[in-house]
Amino acid sequence: MRAIIIGAGIAGLAAALRLRQIGWESLIIERAPQRRGGGYGVTFGGIGYDAAERMGILPALQAKAFVTKELVYHKANGQRDFSLTRETIAATMGSRSMNILRGDVEIVLYEAVCDTTEIRFGTTLTAVTQDDHSVHVTLSDGTTEHADLLIGADGLHSATRALAFGPEEDYRLSLEHMVAVYMLDKRPAAIEEGTTGTLSAGGRTVAVISVGDGRNVAFFGYRTTRGIDSPQDDPHTVLPAVYGDLGWVVPEVLAGMRTAESVYFDTISQMVLDRWSRGRVVLLGDAAWCVTLFAGYGSSLAVGGADLLGTALQDNPGDIHAALTAWEAGLRPEVDKKQKLGRRVKGVYAPANPFVLWLSQVPLRLAALPPVRRYMARRYIKG
Ligand SMILES: Cc1cc2nc3c(=O)[nH]c(=O)nc-3n(C[C@H](O)[C@H](O)[C@H](O)COP(=O)(O)OP(=O)(O)OC[C@H]3O[C@@H](n4cnc5c(N)ncnc54)[C@H](O)[C@@H]3O)c2cc1C
Repeated sequence: MRAIIIGAGIAGLAAALRLRQIGWESLIIERAPQRRGGGYGVTFGGIGYDAAERMGILPALQAKAFVTKELVYHKANGQRDFSLTRETIAATMGSRSMNILRGDVEIVLYEAVCDTTEIRFGTTLTAVTQDDHSVHVTLSDGTTEHADLLIGADGLHSATRALAFGPEEDYRLSLEHMVAVYMLDKRPAAIEEGTTGTLSAGGRTVAVISVGDGRNVAFFGYRTTRGIDSPQDDPHTVLPAVYGDLGWVVPEVLAGMRTAESVYFDTISQMVLDRWSRGRVVLLGDAAWCVTLFAGYGSSLAVGGADLLGTALQDNPGDIHAALTAWEAGLRPEVDKKQKLGRRVKGVYAPANPFVLWLSQVPLRLAALPPVRRYMARRYIKG
């Protein structure tokens, strides 16, 4: 059995690994000229953690995970407000969960498949047709390929989805925020190694996350109703305009964007499709659902979803339709739950009103109190 996978991100690489484990061959098509990497710190847990354990990549992921010693919240004027300790953070995450750079999840998966799976970089998909027996694709390098299954793991702005399901606008639910992320060459002196510093003011959040091995991520997330029109906007112009009035480490972090290798800048939007497959074409990861960073679960769902897809194909040999139906029925409730969480978090994320901001931070402020902190530490130590 053979699959063509569009996208060598977390979802695509995880699918290739899982399919190989059930005896399938895969061809991965990746638009970027080389492996991407980089990214931002993600919390990896839930069904992704279980799947990583089953697929045999958990030790490699754990070796790259980072621990945040302290998460420091700052007032609008830059002064330190309150903080969460390592134990409190760990207790809120639970024991089967880790913090890891998105690009490091990609590297682990890439290393697990690169010797056995062909990855064609600098190539995309231009046409898809299918019949009862196979799916046929035309690629941007002029070649054609066919397979038993086409997996669209090409992210939020999926070309597979556009070709096989219809235009993005038909499925996109804007959560009315923009996000920007890039790696900093240099950690601002005000941010201690191994810690995260964050500040929210006027409907904007900015954070610097120290993610281990001397690497640091700059993160920006802000409310805007014109988000869906602006992915083409240049973050070098937009971010200074949105954040330019803030002090603290913000001027230094904005200056760091000039030397960043790449800047991730996009709308925060969910994908809402009533079916994730059409015949022999199936969507996986952000292409299918994009629960968004508000749910903090997209990488976990990409790996967990790939694992369950492999299991469904294994359990339904020779019947792609039955496999995809069973896979979707099993995974939908988890995705629906996380999409709902993402929409709820949107409402309380970086509120513009200072009092609402304070209220939204009450659970965190409580967690920072010594008795609560001690309780959480005890819970954490018990595992
Ligand atoms: C700031 C931020 C914080 C986040 N935090 C968390 C978190 O705490 N926990 C968590 O679990 N998740 C988190 N996520 C979400 C998570 O990163 C994504 O959900 C996950 O990486 C999805 O992976 P994917 O493979 O589906 O998509 P992508 O990572 O978008 O990968 C798609 C791949 O397809 C390629 N591609 C795109 N178009 C084409 C094309 N036309 N042809 C060929 N290739 C193509 C791309 O180059 C890319 O390699 C966060 C996301 C953001 C933005």
